[in-house]
Amino acid sequence: MLPEFVNTPFTDFSKDDNRKAMTEALARVEAQLGRTYPLVIGGREVMTEDKITSLNPSQFDQVVGTFAKGGREHAEQAVVVADETFKMWSRIPAEDRARYLLKAAAIMKRRRYDLAAWMVFEVGKSWPEADGDVAEAIDFLEFYGREMMRYAAPQPVTPYPGEENELYYMPLGVGVVIPPWNFPLAITVGMTSAAIVTGNTVILKPASTAPAIAYQFVEIMKEAGLPAGVLNFVPGSGGQMGDTLVGHPRTRFIAFTGSKEVGLHIHELAAKTQEGQIWIKRTILEMGGKDFIVVDSSADLEAAADGIVASAFGFQGQKCSACSRAILVDDIYDAVLEKVVERARKITVGPTKDQAHWMGPVVDKAAFENILKYIEIGTGEGKLALGGEKGPAQGYFIMPTIIQDVPENARIAQEEIFGPVLAVIRARDFEHAVAIANGTEFGLTGGLYSGDRSHLEYGRRELFCGNLYFNRKCTGALVGVQPFGGFNMSGTDSKAGGRDYLGLFLQAKSVTERF
Ligand code: NAP
Ligand code: MG
Repeated sequence: MLPEFVNTPFTDFSKDDNRKAMTEALARVEAQLGRTYPLVIGGREVMTEDKITSLNPSQFDQVVGTFAKGGREHAEQAVVVADETFKMWSRIPAEDRARYLLKAAAIMKRRRYDLAAWMVFEVGKSWPEADGDVAEAIDFLEFYGREMMRYAAPQPVTPYPGEENELYYMPLGVGVVIPPWNFPLAITVGMTSAAIVTGNTVILKPASTAPAIAYQFVEIMKEAGLPAGVLNFVPGSGGQMGDTLVGHPRTRFIAFTGSKEVGLHIHELAAKTQEGQIWIKRTILEMGGKDFIVVDSSADLEAAADGIVASAFGFQGQKCSACSRAILVDDIYDAVLEKVVERARKITVGPTKDQAHWMGPVVDKAAFENILKYIEIGTGEGKLALGGEKGPAQGYFIMPTIIQDVPENARIAQEEIFGPVLAVIRARDFEHAVAIANGTEFGLTGGLYSGDRSHLEYGRRELFCGNLYFNRKCTGALVGVQPFGGFNMSGTDSKAGGRDYLGLFLQAKSVTERF
């Protein structure tokens, strides 16, 4: 019997042994940078003329890896292989499928420093952020493995005289998995493993800025013994490769996490019935956010400032859950703003290979330029309280930026920036603060710092977001503990890491025999 699921503990980097292990892993991984990687279709390695280059955003003359870049024909081949493999994989008993995940989790635990090191180089995560990403990936494997065993058990139906009735869950078919680069291991592993353990076959199109860490996962699944063709790896341009896979008549479902714009595009394309298509495609779409932390007059202001800074600037603000709006009620506005600025000013920014840097670079040139553009817009809409400038020139560094006195309907208070930019908004009173918090098209995460029970209860009912936190930061959801997903334009609220999640990758069949 399996032990009950527990979350993987984070690594304590204040311990000498752990620091040493991470330093060694960074050296090991750095020695492997610059390699060339193939597509993997049906277990076959395929090279292409066209390439994707993954760079280290902390030092952009360092190539992390060069990847074969698939085109339409590779997308087509991958669907054919996945479709064929489905006939076999869908018949493998659920328990057997679950064990591939448990085995992969065990491999990841043994390799956790190396996996973290890949993300330090590929996307500029700090040590603790990279470690958290690996821990979450392990958690998804452990959690969904157990969940599949639960879903495979006989499902309760109402007894009916003279008949045997049963209901069981079966897989859907070929799934396309499209992850973002910001949790390039955890989210990739989460969506892919959920699709596989439920008996589907997968075509994984990694984010073009983070294919190297995705490839590490593909290798681990192979080492765990996953049969060829169950997981196919096809890096390619989001537009071309993505559209071909999503639009294919044999694609049964799409699991996507990324921006609102791409999510809506996938939703629309998947809804269009193609010639020869015999099902309604299912989509699981988790998208952006404009997340808030509200602070009222009764709050512990020190704790609130800590929570705002950690949520706004952790991983350079590039989390879908990042706090991008601090909504402060009038009488504590100045005090909290001052504490937030004071803390953010002390943040160290630089290449994250060095443990001393709490904040690293933003992911690439496009992000860098987009964030700087928003800072310019924001300084016209509010008043710059901190930052606004670039960091060290060898990478895509932007200093922690705080813009105060931002009107609630300003662009930087409404549009997702996805970088280290915090808009501080003044509310007349608590109810006004809640109205401001709810006043965007998104609804992913939010926080409330309050010592007032009636405010906490009001917020519990009225604050509209998928993941709401009281008196703590609004990032860092744990698998199983805080199932994750958002409302409105933040997505389909699939609640990754929750007990409903695998149901999204399954269909239920009712069978009756009359005796
Ligand atoms: P993105 O630009 O939307 O890209 C996400 C993925 O979609 C990438 O693999 C991308 O490939 C692919 N893609 C692009 N165009 C496509 C198309 N036409 N068809 C199919 N796929 C296509 O998002 P991102 O910059 O990677 O990630 C940041 C966003 O993700 C933010 O908005 C953030 O809030 C959101 N996010 C949400 C959650 C959540 O749980 N709600 C979690 C994490 C992140 P290429 O890389 O090749 O373009
Ligand atoms: Mg990169």
